Amino acid sequence: MPNDFNIESLVRENIRNLTPYRSARDDFEKGTLLDANENSYGSVVRNSLDLHRYPTPTHNRLRKKIAAYRDVDFENIFLGVGSDEPIDLLMRIFCEPGRDSVIITPPTYGMYRVAANINNVGVKEVLLTENFQLKPDKILESADDSTRLLFLCSPNNPTANDLKRTDLLKLVTQFPGIVVIDEAYIDFSRQESMASMVQQYPNLVVLQTFSKAFGLAGIRLGIAISNPETIGYMLRVKAPYNVNKLTADVALKAFDNPDLLKHNIEAIREERAYMSEQLEHSDAVEKVYPSNANFLLFKIKNAEKAYQKLAEKGIIVRYRGNEPLCNDCLRVTIGLPDENIRFLKALKEVLDHVQS
Ligand SMILES: *Cc1c(COP(=O)(O)O)cnc(C)c1O
Repeated sequence: MPNDFNIESLVRENIRNLTPYRSARDDFEKGTLLDANENSYGSVVRNSLDLHRYPTPTHNRLRKKIAAYRDVDFENIFLGVGSDEPIDLLMRIFCEPGRDSVIITPPTYGMYRVAANINNVGVKEVLLTENFQLKPDKILESADDSTRLLFLCSPNNPTANDLKRTDLLKLVTQFPGIVVIDEAYIDFSRQESMASMVQQYPNLVVLQTFSKAFGLAGIRLGIAISNPETIGYMLRVKAPYNVNKLTADVALKAFDNPDLLKHNIEAIREERAYMSEQLEHSDAVEKVYPSNANFLLFKIKNAEKAYQKLAEKGIIVRYRGNEPLCNDCLRVTIGLPDENIRFLKALKEVLDHVQS
């Protein structure tokens, strides 16, 4: 980020000039509401959430709760339909289709490339090292005038490790565009979130989600944390009522039970240590990569075959051998203790069979 860094200059012209849609609830939320063509007679489903009314476009109450939890201001918070929505919005706000590009660092999360492809935005790759760490100088070298976004993921999916904080900081301070750090798995790591640094670095966007540590993948709620100017653009470009009432209602309750959240995270960490140790003890497993997430990446001979054999036994894991640097690798999510034991037993049977 150069000293004269200016977000507006990176924003596409049509977005800068956009007059956003004004929804009925932008103006008044209370009164005799005859403004939005809702059904005043009510929902056909009984529910206390007034589901016949549109939700608030901004969900400020929920934004304030999340902001307090992550130690930022509510103006730093954007709520989206999963993390997929903020990823797509960042492309649409900053990248001119057919002209601009983003940098990704494979092996990493597949959605960055998919979102770029959908938006006809170029993708440059700078692979991670053999230890799945960043090459900051290579990344900086490959940035040019049309490079708008850099997607980093820490802890990284599918490699499971934290990216080094010094590398992340170097890129945030030196990359000429927006640096997106996807922290979907941050609560399983001992590393601190970068979220509070958005106050200091206007080019930093941190992504988080309710899908992993909070165990709420089903409600589809993702969070982008950034400076109020970028958040403002995201609010203007999003669909007016992107986050629905059922989702917001559940998300508000997610903070009611911090002990359960902590307990589950700790249980997953303990099972992760157990699984990792068990896999390491197996002769047929060539490598178990260190994990700061809720899954393990490990390497075995004939991984694709083993993946299929496991599936035949009803144990579904992810084959990641097509990713660069992940030859013959499988990714397994940390399950409940009895699921993990079933997995380990099935894997042993499969490996004995594949090898003999
Ligand atoms: C699981 C995951 C997410 C979460 O995606 P949602 O759309 O919020 O469910 C985001 N980033 C990475 C790297 C993930 O693995």
